[in-house]
Amino acid sequence: NQILLNGNMIKRRSCIDIEDRGYQFGDGIYEVVGIYGGKLFLMDEHLQRLKRSARELSIKLPFTMADIKQDLIELTKVNDVIEGLLYLQITRGVAPRTHELPVEKVEPMVVAYTKELGDLTELQDMGSTAILQEDIRWLRCDVKTLNLLPNTMAKQRAVEQGAVEAILNRGEVVTEASSSNVFIIKDGIVYTHPANNFILNGITRQKVIQILQELNILVKEVPYTVTDLLSADEVFITATKLDVVPINSVDGHDIGTGKPGMMTIQILEAMRQLTARLQVQ
Ligand code: PLP
Repeated sequence: NQILLNGNMIKRRSCIDIEDRGYQFGDGIYEVVGIYGGKLFLMDEHLQRLKRSARELSIKLPFTMADIKQDLIELTKVNDVIEGLLYLQITRGVAPRTHELPVEKVEPMVVAYTKELGDLTELQDMGSTAILQEDIRWLRCDVKTLNLLPNTMAKQRAVEQGAVEAILNRGEVVTEASSSNVFIIKDGIVYTHPANNFILNGITRQKVIQILQELNILVKEVPYTVTDLLSADEVFITATKLDVVPINSVDGHDIGTGKPGMMTIQILEAMRQLTARLQVQ
């Protein structure tokens, strides 16, 4: 079985098949889990979300939660990652290319790898900037699928402008960012978009909401507007391993004093205590 690859007739590669539906349609799901002090943080929560994503796309996961968990812990150990990320991807599998789902049984393809990450303390302490971009994604942003082109394009714009993130707005409403969730603070109250089909319900987002409740800080999961964002006292984003990153300005507009705010720093510190505890376990 030969294929044409960059002008050469070669043997069909055994690692990723051309007709893997993940490769051809983005027909697959993934998770990114943070590694702190060699430990996988909030892994059960990530695996629960993976299970939900699989169910939403009718992909039958070819493993039990207990087995995959063991394998991922093993992979992290074998690669000796102390600070970094674990990426886990499951595609529907290999089948003759048709848009509709294959009728015959296909075996999902499971891939995972780890990646070391540098220190993010400075970014978290100093904060960064963001730009605004229209949210042009589909209406099932709650499913963590491989279809990320609108996200990558938005992030590219941000990077070109020296920003850490592209905050997305659907018309007037701020949804989330290209690869993180967005929180704003106004008069001591924290606001973030509700977990519905317009956003990915971040595992870090959920942890931060829990931290806020424990700190007796009022958090409202309600839609808020671009005007609310730009006139907020504080803004921060959350994502795996980034944890909490203050946003000092949006589209060149200073947020509050233009420096990380007191409440954001308090939330960041609470998050650090959690991950530090993991490291000594
Ligand atoms: N929103 C989007 C679109 C994302 O891609 C991500 C993570 O990559 C997040 C939010 C944050 O989710 P989590 O905290 O689970 O990493």
